[in-house]
Amino acid sequence: MRAMILKSVTDLDLNQEPLVMTKMPDPIPDEDEVLIKVTACGVCHTELDEIEGRTPPPRFPVIPGHQVIGKVAAIGKSVKELKPGDRIGVAWIFSSCGKCSFCLGGYENLCPEFRATGRDVNGGYAEYMTAPEAFTYRIPEIFTDSQAAPLLCAGAVGYRSVKLTGLQDGQNIGLTGFGASGHLVLQIIKFKYPGAEIFVFARSETERIFALELGAYWSGDTTDNVPEQLDSIIDTTPVWKTVVEALKNLKPGGRLVINAIRKEEIDKEYLMNIDYSSHLWMEKEIKSVANVTRGDVKEFLDIASKIPIIPEVQEYRLEEANVALTELKKRKIRGAKVLVIR
Ligand SMILES: [Zn+2]
Ligand SMILES: [Zn+2]
Repeated sequence: MRAMILKSVTDLDLNQEPLVMTKMPDPIPDEDEVLIKVTACGVCHTELDEIEGRTPPPRFPVIPGHQVIGKVAAIGKSVKELKPGDRIGVAWIFSSCGKCSFCLGGYENLCPEFRATGRDVNGGYAEYMTAPEAFTYRIPEIFTDSQAAPLLCAGAVGYRSVKLTGLQDGQNIGLTGFGASGHLVLQIIKFKYPGAEIFVFARSETERIFALELGAYWSGDTTDNVPEQLDSIIDTTPVWKTVVEALKNLKPGGRLVINAIRKEEIDKEYLMNIDYSSHLWMEKEIKSVANVTRGDVKEFLDIASKIPIIPEVQEYRLEEANVALTELKKRKIRGAKVLVIR
């Protein structure tokens, strides 16, 4: 098969071709796995973090890609439900141990043996991949392959971040940073909590106007004071300034959920602006979102098909993966980037 492989950590500003097109043998599924003929694979910011070493793969070479849509091409001996031809998806959670206290307690995303698709094992920037049957998802018919791919990561993690806020209908909630993930989160909140007022913090005027068009109650700059304090805020930015600025807008007992796999170092000194009495006192909480569970992915796909959330996508061929990644790095974004593999 053809695959785009990552051979080592590299700096995308200096190396615009981090992945190399390679011919390699098709993978063979284990007993509990399926072989998937990949048809679409989303391109995610986390791939930039893998390539540049902020969340490096443990072994090289590796095939990236964790928003995979394809058809079952072959099945292992103990596969029960899936048959060749079935359309399925694979998300960031490739597997977990199934036995530890986290797995048994509903937190398989925190399992010490959590394995991430496209980082710890080969992912979907290829013609074929294998995955455990138990960690695959049927894809609602309403979505094309390209439309479904980006839902598997940004959407599912965004959904988890909403769950972690503990939001109840009628409360208010802030979203800081209004990129692809913010748009999805806004739609999830409007669907699940129709009585919630949504406050959007964004640097660009265009994003602030767009937020109001999508149904936000208020929008302003990331440093603005909100007219009323908020029960919770979800931060999807890569920087620290928004963390400090969000904390001042929380109610007593309010919670800030940070939905970012890594924060960048560029503005870390902004944390020195933290003032205990206005930013943290009164039982304010900070919580991060780590990975996703299979439940998050399944529940989100169901919600997305009902709303429905149909992502805007920009398609690339497999051999154009480096173009998609460098454009993502330079924030040239017109919809979610998806590799289409024929
Ligand atoms: Zn476990
Ligand atoms: Zn992702």
